[in-house]
Amino acid sequence: METPKSNRVGFLLDMDGVIYKGKSAIEGSAAFLEKLRENDIPYLFLTNNSQRTRRDMAMKLQRMGIPAEREQIFTCAMATARFLSEKKPDGTAYVIGENGLAAALHQNDYTVVDDDPDFVVVGEGRTISFENIEKAVRLVSNGAALIATNLDTTCPTDAGIRPGCGAIVAMIESATGKKAFSLGKPSPIMMRMARKTLGLRTDETIMVGDTMYTDVLGAVQMGYRSVLVLSGHTTEEDIKSYAYTPDLVAPCLNAIPDEFFMPAALATV
Ligand SMILES: [Mg+2]
Repeated sequence: METPKSNRVGFLLDMDGVIYKGKSAIEGSAAFLEKLRENDIPYLFLTNNSQRTRRDMAMKLQRMGIPAEREQIFTCAMATARFLSEKKPDGTAYVIGENGLAAALHQNDYTVVDDDPDFVVVGEGRTISFENIEKAVRLVSNGAALIATNLDTTCPTDAGIRPGCGAIVAMIESATGKKAFSLGKPSPIMMRMARKTLGLRTDETIMVGDTMYTDVLGAVQMGYRSVLVLSGHTTEEDIKSYAYTPDLVAPCLNAIPDEFFMPAALATV
């Protein structure tokens, strides 16, 4: 019998489609998190939404009855800001996006400017104007590096989809002929930062998500175990069209069997 390398595990949990859908919690997600806490299994919420700050995201969860601390939220805006501050400390950025992105940049000693920035940083949001796009196109063609918080082409809303960060970035890429560098899932940079936040090793990390090309792909690239839940926008039929597969497919978060993440020794405690 194969001996597991480590008894420790921890979870990186996508939010939309895993913990909640629209404005309501997905049944059983609070119970699953409770089980993790009871067994001292660490977890981190991981989102490609750069619109809200981690404090706002924690509040959103709390209001749905999901206990969450701000320290348990890791957003693509945070991954982006940390990456940029390591690459070029005290830099400048022209920002297309909302609060969550500007706050993350400020926290990492970045200055938001309108002219001559080091980077043009794009997140999603609903307050973007054509003027912003025009400005970004000119700055990028004059030499600013183009950074995307994520390349998701759509954002789910209660009323249907709306254009996501990837769709906005595509306009700028098309006009300038320059390719954006993206930090959000499936970027190994965000996936690694999240693992390190929990102090886990690669073989101890499990990623749960409802999207193949971000959550599952990110985990596959990193060598993490992955779970695709069908409580979001992916069906079992969809999985067949991808070259990679998750380690487990479950109807929802709370349907992940204990044996998948609790070695026998732990489960009997
Ligand atoms: Mg999702």
